[in-house]
Order: sequence, then structure tokens, then C-alpha cells
Amino acid sequence: MIVCKFGGSSVADAAQIKKVKAILESDPERTIAVVSAPGKRSSDDEKITDMLYKCNSLVQKGQTCRLVFAEIAKRFVEIARNLKLDAEAVSEKLDEIRYQLDAGKGADFAASRGEYLSAWIISQYLGWEFIDSADVIVINQDSTVNDVTYQRVRERLEPGKKYVIPGFYGETEQGVLKTFTRGGSDITGAIIARSVGASLYENWTDVSGIYRADPRVVKYAEAIPELSYKEVRELSDVGASVFHEEAIAPIYASGIPINIKNTNRPEDPGTMIVPESSREGAAGVSVRTSLSRLQVRKLMMFKKHGMRHALLTMLHVFGIRPCYSLYGIDTIVWFYESRMASDSVTAAMCERLKKEFSLDECKADHGHAILGIVGGNMDIEGGPCVKALQALCKAGIDVTSVNAGASDASVLIGIWEKDAKAALKAVYDAVFRSDK
Ligand code: ASP
Repeated sequence: MIVCKFGGSSVADAAQIKKVKAILESDPERTIAVVSAPGKRSSDDEKITDMLYKCNSLVQKGQTCRLVFAEIAKRFVEIARNLKLDAEAVSEKLDEIRYQLDAGKGADFAASRGEYLSAWIISQYLGWEFIDSADVIVINQDSTVNDVTYQRVRERLEPGKKYVIPGFYGETEQGVLKTFTRGGSDITGAIIARSVGASLYENWTDVSGIYRADPRVVKYAEAIPELSYKEVRELSDVGASVFHEEAIAPIYASGIPINIKNTNRPEDPGTMIVPESSREGAAGVSVRTSLSRLQVRKLMMFKKHGMRHALLTMLHVFGIRPCYSLYGIDTIVWFYESRMASDSVTAAMCERLKKEFSLDECKADHGHAILGIVGGNMDIEGGPCVKALQALCKAGIDVTSVNAGASDASVLIGIWEKDAKAALKAVYDAVFRSDK
């Protein structure tokens, strides 16, 4: 049995949904489709999910979301009409959703309706049964999957039947609708694949796999034929956006292979993600941008038991959850997403940290990026790190930090965001093209 997840671009309009049908019908093993909300039809288009979030913020501010909602409704009705489905039935569902948005059901409910309607329409088009994810997927407060989910899915799905399931959302144990983080339909696909013991989890998108570097920046970058679970998590963490980094967790123990495929070029092999990869050395390089850096210093800081934990707790209070850290004898450096705190919040936080922990220094600055080179056994090979640092030095790009050895599958190099594209190209050429 193959579980297929189709991303936003694969269900962006009726023409794309027709390709989805052809893909599903070309292999009888493909019996479960997990779908996203319609994504962008062109680069200047808007994702339905973004529009739904917009609607909710308008309602929260006491304003009407009439205009934005009309655009959403237009897109769904157009999809239904072009697929020759009952557009009236879709309009009725839209009216009900609009009513609930106005009643202030919140951001998660609003965002989830894109997947809900998308799956419902596609189920009608395919003649497959629709299952509401809220009935089977239980999400914990920290957005992880509650273990009862797998049993619930198994009990709900009958062998031999075909289903369409919306991605991205479920319910808390208290019965409140909750979404995963953005791009979370990948997680739903993984949950379903594990629950039914799928032989393969196909993840259909608009590129032919995961590339060694972002092909918009490095035009000649190649697709990676095979990656391990560990490598794909590392690569997603440093900004490669093809597969959600949390989607490995549900299937980690079951070892189900994942195939990243292109809905527009189904014949391309794509990238296989497997528990262990036989390759040694670098697989890909990526840069995560829009980061800020917090530096704290205090003489003999680590003599005080629990200091790091206490500082982190305070950071959380101010809405900052660091994604990378470095420790010195008397210093800690944390990188975090700049959007997490404004300048005034960071200033207030530094004041408080200094006072409460008698810090010698606490300062934040912006415009940072982390470049990650990911691969198998990077620690023993040693080559990619040296090659990358030499290439950055030769290109005149400043390095602000190096973290090698924390994981045997990655080397993380701090750079300034303004250098991100030049750094990606320089490192790609040095690591993957040095023999060409
Ligand atoms: N529609 C959601 C998003 O845009 C979830 C997903 O597509 O996976 O983030």
C-alpha cells in the first residue's frame, strides 16, 4: 500500500488535480491520498492558507473578512466547476466556514479549512471516501503527535478501501482543532503511512526531489538520488523547504521509505529517503536566513548549576526559542528567528537577563544566516568542512561561527545574511564541483 501526499502546488487548481487523479489511478497500490490546501498557481499568487490566516486576523481585530473570503470562495468554486462537481455543495460548505470564522473560532480552525475543503473536493472528484483528520489525529499542545492517533487511524481505515484525508490538522485531547506548524501536511502523510504500515510514502510536490542546493540560486544543482532520515532532517533544519523536518518522527521506527516526486514530471525518479544511506560525504548544502544572534557573557557562568536552563527559560518567556547554540568558557551564543522578537522586546529581555543573572554582557544583533553542509559520516571524512571554509575565505565571505562535530551528519557555518547566495554558490562549487 502506498500513501501519497500532494502538496499545495499539486492541488492549486483543477488542472493540477487532474494530474493527481492520473497519478493515483496509474498504480493500484496508491490507495490513500493526503492533500494540502491549494497553493500558489504562479509566483505572484497567494496560498489559500495565507488568505485564511488573513481572514482570521481581520476578524480578531473586529473587522470584516468579506473581501478576502470572497477570493477564497472564488477559488474553491472555480476548482469545483472545472472538475464538473456540484459547486452548490461547495458554496454551502463555504458559507458554514464563513459563519464559523465570524464566530471567532481562531487561527488554527481558520487555517485548517483550506485542507478540509481541498480534501473534500478531491474525494468527490475521485469517488474516494473522505475522512476528517479531526476525527483521527490527536495533536499534543507542543504540536507533537499523540500516540493514540495511530490506533485510531488503524481502526477507522478499512483495508482495500480508498481514502482522501486532509493534511495539516487534527484535534487536541480536549477536542479543540489544532494545526501542525506550516507545511505540516507532510507530517499527516507520515502518520497515515505508519498507521497503515505502508510499503512506501510518496510525497508529491513541484520539484523532482531534494536538490543538493536551492536550484533558484545554484542553477546547475543536481537532485539528490538518496538521503537518510537523519540527513533529510538536518537539511530541512538549515532551510531546505521540500520536506518538513518533523515528518520523519512518525515513521522513524518503522523504516518506511519516502519518495519525493514531481506531480508535473511523474516519470522523474525523485529523491528516496531511507533509514540509512550508503553514501559517505556531503549530500547537500543549504542556508537558513532571517536569523538574529544573542550573545551573553558572565565570568565563571557555568560554575553556577542550572544557569543555562534558567536563561533559556527566560528566553522562552520573551518568545525566543533558539535554533542553534554555541558555548564558550564564559559565553553563550544563541541564534533565533528574527521574527520571534522585535528590537524593543530584545532590549527589554537583555535588561532583565542582566539584572536577574548579573550578566557582564547581553546583546543581540540581526542579519545572520547559518549555512549547513549535510551528509553521511561528515566527521570522519573531514573534507567538506575544510573545502567549504577555504571557498568562503577565497570568496571574501566572513565566517561568524563554525559548529562541526555536534552531529556526524552536518557542519554548520555562521555567515552574514547578505552573503547567503554567494556563500551557497561558493560552497556548492567547492564541495560538489571541485573535480569537474
Ligand atoms: N497548507 C499548509 C501550509 O501552507 C500546510 C501544508 O501545505 O502542508 O503551511
